[in-house]
Amino acid sequence: MNEPLHYRSTRGARHGACVDEVIAAGLAPDGGLYVPEALPSLELSAFDPDGTLADTATTLLYPFFRGTAMAEALPVICREALDFPVPLRPLPRHGDASMLELFHGPSAAFKDVGARFLAACFRRLRRNDATPLTILVATSGDTGAAVAAAFHRQPGVRVVILYPDGRVSPRQAHQLGCFGDNVQALRVAGSFDDCQRMVKAALNDAALQASMPLSSANSISLGRLLPQMSYYAHAAMGWWQRQRSPLNLIVPTGNLGNALAAVWVREMGLPIGEIQLACNANATLSDYFDGENYTPRPAIPTLANAMDVGAPSNFERLRWTFPRDYELRMQLRATSVDDDTIRQTIVWHAQEHGEVFCPHTATAMHVLDRMGATDLPWAVVATAHPAKFESVVEPLIGRHVEVPPALQAMLQRPASAEPLPADDEALKHWLGYQLA
Ligand SMILES: *Cc1c(COP(=O)(O)O)cnc(C)c1O
Repeated sequence: MNEPLHYRSTRGARHGACVDEVIAAGLAPDGGLYVPEALPSLELSAFDPDGTLADTATTLLYPFFRGTAMAEALPVICREALDFPVPLRPLPRHGDASMLELFHGPSAAFKDVGARFLAACFRRLRRNDATPLTILVATSGDTGAAVAAAFHRQPGVRVVILYPDGRVSPRQAHQLGCFGDNVQALRVAGSFDDCQRMVKAALNDAALQASMPLSSANSISLGRLLPQMSYYAHAAMGWWQRQRSPLNLIVPTGNLGNALAAVWVREMGLPIGEIQLACNANATLSDYFDGENYTPRPAIPTLANAMDVGAPSNFERLRWTFPRDYELRMQLRATSVDDDTIRQTIVWHAQEHGEVFCPHTATAMHVLDRMGATDLPWAVVATAHPAKFESVVEPLIGRHVEVPPALQAMLQRPASAEPLPADDEALKHWLGYQLA
C-alpha cells in the first residue's frame, strides 16, 4: 500500500503525475486542473478521536502523499500550516446550527489554510533550487493576502499578486500592498476573471517558463485545495462523535475551491450530509444547479467581492468528480443572494443576535435563515472576519468592528501597488522586465 497516488489533468493530458510535481506546477500543462486519478476513501476508525486539526489533516491527506518524498514530512507540514484554531461554534438561538469559523489565521480569511500549506510544501520541494520561483496569484482580495502572508520572506520564492483595481475593499488593498520584500502587488484595470486569465496565459507560455520558473497559488492549485479538506473532516468527525449524525454545510462560494474540498471529503467517506452553496449575485452555479446549461459569464461586482466569479475554475474538477449532469445536480444545491439581501442579513443578525458577519458569510447565513425550521444540523461556514470588510459592514450596523491583532499589524505598515492593464501581454512584459 505504498504505491503513490497518481494525478491527471481534467483535460486529459499528463497522466501519472505525482503529488510533488502537481503541487510545484499548480496548473497542468494542457491548461486543465490536476485531479487524483481516483479519490481515496478512509474509514472513520483511521482518525484519532482526540486528535488536533493537524492530526486529522495528516490522516486525511496521507493517501494523497503516500510513497513520495513529502509523505514523511506531512505531519510537520500539517502542524506548520494548521497552527490556528478552526472552531465549530454553536449559533445562539439557531437550534442545532453552528458556525465553522475559518478566519482565525494571519490574514483573517479561510485562504490562510491553503496558502500556509502550500508554503510549507514549497519549503520542502525547493530546497536545492538555485533559480528563484515566481508565484503568480490572481486574487479577488483574500487569496493574495493569505499567499503574501504565507510566503513573505521565504527564501527562493517571490510572489506577484494581481488584483482587480477598485474591486477589493480598502483594507484588502492595504493587506495586498503592505508586504514588500519578495512580494509585489499589481492592481489590474479589470475584473478578477481578467486577472485569472492573465495568470493562466503566463503560466502556459513555454518561452516565459523557460527563462523564469513560474507557478501559481490560486485555488486551482491542488496544494491549496487538499488542505482545505482538513477543517471539514475535523469538524465532521467531532460532530459525529458527539451527535452520531452527519454535519450539513452551507458554504459561501465563488471559485468553488472551498466547497469542492467539502464535496471531496464526503466522497472519501466522512460524515458530511448535504452541502449547499451560497453564491452572491454571480449566478452561474445557482442557474446550473437549477437545471440550466452551465454558462460561464463575466463577473459582476458585489458586496461579497471574494466571490465575484462568473466562471468558477473548479467547476472543471466538480465535473471530473461527477461527469453526468444529473448526478452532479444531486450532489449540491446552490442559492444566489443579491446585495440587498446581504445587507439585510448583516443588519438583522447584528440587531437580533448581536452577531456580526462579513458579506460572504452573510450569504450563507441567509441560506440558513431562508430554510426556516429544519431538522438537519447545519454548519454555516464563516469564510472571513467582518473587520476585513469594515467599509461594507460598519455603516450597516452603525458601530465599529474590532480588528483582530494580526490584521491590525498589517494595516499599520505602509502599502503600495503598481498599475497594470488587463492584458495578457502586459503581464508577460512586466515579468520579462523584472527579469532583465
Ligand atoms: C475566496 C473566498 C470565498 C470563495 O471561496 P471559493 O473557494 O473561491 O469558492 C468566500 N469568502 C471569502 C471571504 C473568500 O475569501
